Parts: sequence; structure tokens; C-alpha cells
Amino acid sequence: MDNTPVKISQSLISLPLVHPFQTSFGVQDKKFAIIIKLIDADENVGWGETVADPFPGYAYETMDTTWTIQEKYLIPAFLKLFENGFPTIEDIDKAFAPIRGHNFAKTGIESAYWSLKAQRENKSVGELYGATKTKIPTGVSIGIQPSLDALLERIGKFLEKGYQRIKIKIKPGWDFDVVQAIRKEYGDIKLMVDANSAYSLKKEHIDIFKRMDRFDLMMIEQPLAYDDMLDHKKLQAEISTPICLDESIHTVSHAIQAIEYECAKIINIKPARVGGYHKAKQIAEKLGKDKVWLGGMLEMGIGRMHNIFIQAKDEFTIPGDTSGSDRYFTQDIIDPPVKVDENGYIEVPKGRNLAVNVREDVILSNTINYQETS
Ligand SMILES: [Mg+2]
Repeated sequence: MDNTPVKISQSLISLPLVHPFQTSFGVQDKKFAIIIKLIDADENVGWGETVADPFPGYAYETMDTTWTIQEKYLIPAFLKLFENGFPTIEDIDKAFAPIRGHNFAKTGIESAYWSLKAQRENKSVGELYGATKTKIPTGVSIGIQPSLDALLERIGKFLEKGYQRIKIKIKPGWDFDVVQAIRKEYGDIKLMVDANSAYSLKKEHIDIFKRMDRFDLMMIEQPLAYDDMLDHKKLQAEISTPICLDESIHTVSHAIQAIEYECAKIINIKPARVGGYHKAKQIAEKLGKDKVWLGGMLEMGIGRMHNIFIQAKDEFTIPGDTSGSDRYFTQDIIDPPVKVDENGYIEVPKGRNLAVNVREDVILSNTINYQETS
């Protein structure tokens, strides 16, 4: 079992989205990802997924930067570790530390490592992440809709499907009245809002958030600037609704500082944003229950399975953003696809490695670019 990996490959793939979505720079009708495949000398296979966006809008990383950083820096540093046997996660952290930032790229490689380790040890990835739960509660995130009626209708559909928590995107002019209408129509549902940094500390904005306290929202996600902590602390002091930070958190210490300095009460952990599943695990374990939940980057099946396994840890009591595969893709890259049951839970599958079949035929037929290193 001391055989070292002989090969690592990256495949840039795209899948058509069931519902194209509007972003500030146009309509996105395809989802991209870089699939990492790691094979050792015994033909054990590990699967990872790198979040790969075409545009540096959510973060500075894109499908081009992640590809290049992986090929030129991370993969060589990673493969070198195997010259001394199968590495530990600490070895990997140390090898990746000189490459500053680039957390999406690091997460892609790291997730393949966990998958290979699970395969070699005849465990599920969940066991390596410390998973204990057999099912995870989940919610849905709904973008800004063309009209209030359209939004209310969409919420109704997702509630019917069982999703436990509704998150809507807000922006100035699409906030108080919208939330009020949702409360009126659907009563006491688990409801939260995500502002994606659309607000500032000007008085009219603070007033909106103060007035929204009456709606008993679970949280307001990232109301202020993506690189800010202090203004969030000031806003949190003015309102009772918990602030949740997303875009501001890139490291384990950011997460701890944000809570300790009362800039936020809750952290949206996105493994890709914080540099991997080991770091996501550390944040969850350090902050504990009711302070963390798992967001997502619309991962395809492989990333989605890693996200499910990490959420099977005890600390994830707040429903996350992991939807069923069918919400995004007609054909996912795993079989069976991820399903949400009628009570809003996703079952954590039992079995070796990712506990699902990876559809290599689907990956192959959607591959745009391929590269391998031995
Ligand atoms: Mg967010």
C-alpha cells in the first residue's frame, strides 16, 4: 500500500445548465469545472473537482488561473511529496503554503487526495472528514427574479420539493418589501438573505437592515464589501439579525477573527474559498455548532459529494446550499445523482471513496482541455 501515484490529470469540462442564470456580466448557460483524477500504481483512483468560473467576479480565480496554477505549481509540488511515500495532509499544506492564495486550485488537488486516500484505506471520504450523520439538511438559494410574483412562485415550488431553508439574493430596491411579501405568503419558514456586498454603511442602508430585524431572518449574508471586516462589525452592533460572512473569509484565521471580533455571528464555509476540506473541517470544529454552514459554488457531482460528506459532520446544524443535481444539470458526472428527499434532506451514501460511480464517459464527452503529469 505504499505505492505512489503514477499519474494526475486535469480535465476542463463544461455542462449545460438547466436554467441559465443572469450575472452582472451576462447570461451563464454553462457550468465549468476542472476534474482532477489521481491514480496510484495499484490503479486506485481519487477524484477531485476545482471550481472554475469563466469570470473573476466572485473571486479572482478563474478556469484559466486555476488550470495554470495547478499545472505549473501545485501538481509538481504535490507529486514530489509521493517520492517519500503517501503524504499526510500536513505535508500537503506545507508544500502548498509557499504558493500564496489560489484556494480554488488547491482545493481541487486536495479533494482528489482525500478521495484517493479513502479508496486506498477502503473508507468513505466522509470517514476521513469526520462525518457522523446519515443525512444532511439542505436549503436552496434563489437569485433575483424578474418580478415578485415570479419569486414567490419559485419559493413555493422549492418548499413543495421539501427544501428546508430558503435563501434569496437581495440588493437595494429588492429587499424589505420582498422579504415582507415572502413572510406574508409563506409565514414562518426558515428564511435568509444574501446581499453579495450590495450595501454600504450609509444611513439609508443601515435603516433597511434595522427594519428587517422584525422578519426574524436566520441571517443576512455578506451585506457589505467583500474585503471588509470592520464595517460588518459596525453593522452587526446596530442590528439583531445575525450577519453571516461569505466573500470576506479566505482562511481559517479569517473565520475565527470574524467571530471573535463580532464582525459576524455565522460563517458560510465554502471549501474552495478557504483552501480545502481540511481547512473547512478546522473552521467547523473550531467554531462549532450553529456558527457555520456550508455554501457552494454550484459544484458538479464530484465536488457536490465532497460537500455532502463534510456536511455530515456534527457541527453543520444549519441547512446548507447543496441542492439536488437536477436543479442544475440534466446529466451529472456521478451516478446516482444527488437527490433531495421530500423532507429536505440529502442522504449521505455509505460506501468506499465517494460512494457513487463517477461517469467517466460524461466527463470525456464534455472535455474541453486535458493535461496529465506522471
Ligand atoms: Mg453568498
